[in-house]
Order: sequence, then structure tokens, then C-alpha cells
Amino acid sequence: MLETNYQLGQSKKTCLLCGTEFQEGEPCFSALQEDESGDLTRKDFCSSCWAENDAEFFSHWQTSFQNAHPRKKVDENELLAFYNSLETKKNGHAYELRYILALYLARKKKLQLIEIKNSEKGEELVFDCPENDKRTVILDPELSNERIEELTEEIDSLFSVKLSKQV
Ligand SMILES: [Zn+2]
Repeated sequence: MLETNYQLGQSKKTCLLCGTEFQEGEPCFSALQEDESGDLTRKDFCSSCWAENDAEFFSHWQTSFQNAHPRKKVDENELLAFYNSLETKKNGHAYELRYILALYLARKKKLQLIEIKNSEKGEELVFDCPENDKRTVILDPELSNERIEELTEEIDSLFSVKLSKQV
């Protein structure tokens, strides 16, 4: 399991570099770093630290900090931003995460599943995003149940949510 120092229910979140505490509604940048074993670690930055940062990340996205009730509510907008940040990923770990996120976001009406097409590569799921009119096509990566569970727990851990309880 991944260890993060961002606990469920924690209300304070700070910039990794300068330690500034995020204020409600403040733009902040989140990035995931992948280590050699494929484990992802989440890092959050304020805008000015992000602008100075030039490290390469697995993926990154921008959100505004919402100090909402983390126990009650998944920040679906942030999950959508994470999903969009993986747009160019066509295979591997990132692609698998993208697939899991698409299914979850479709259940939450953040994405609409338009159709399922059979292509020579396999089953393709076509999603539209009502918020930005973007269409994405995702080839079903045919994950095992164990892998789906692993990926769901990984998202839970990175986003301090309990997707696994909601899917
Ligand atoms: Zn900072």
C-alpha cells in the first residue's frame, strides 16, 4: 500500500516546497511521481512554487483547493482533472488508472458513456465530457478483478477518498 502523509479528514494542506497552507479556492497544482517499483506519490504545490519547478512527473493537474468535507464527499472535479491529465497515456499504469477513473466519473455523471464499439483491438468505450465537450475513446484494458482492486485502492490513497466504497 502507498503511504501518504495526507490523511483522510485532514483539513490542512500545504505546499510541498514552501510549506504555505492552501487557502479555500486558491489555485494549486498536484503532481504524481512514480518510483522504480511503479508506486505513485502525490505532491502538492502552490502556484509560484509550481512555476519554478521543472521536475518531470507521471502526471499533473491544476485544481483549486477545496477544504470541503473530505469524509462525505469525493472531489469529483479533481478526479476529472486527474483523468484529463492522463489523456495522452496510451498504455501501462497510467492508462489503467485512466480507465478506472473513466468508469467512476461516468457513474458520477462527470462523463457520459456514449457507446461501446467493437474494434479489432477490442472493446472501445466512448466518453463525452459535458463540461468541456471533449470526447475520449478508451480501449478496455481487460483488467483482472485483482488489478481493478489495486488501482482503486491506489486512487483512494492518492486522493484520500474511498472510491472502493462508492464504485
Ligand atoms: Zn509553495
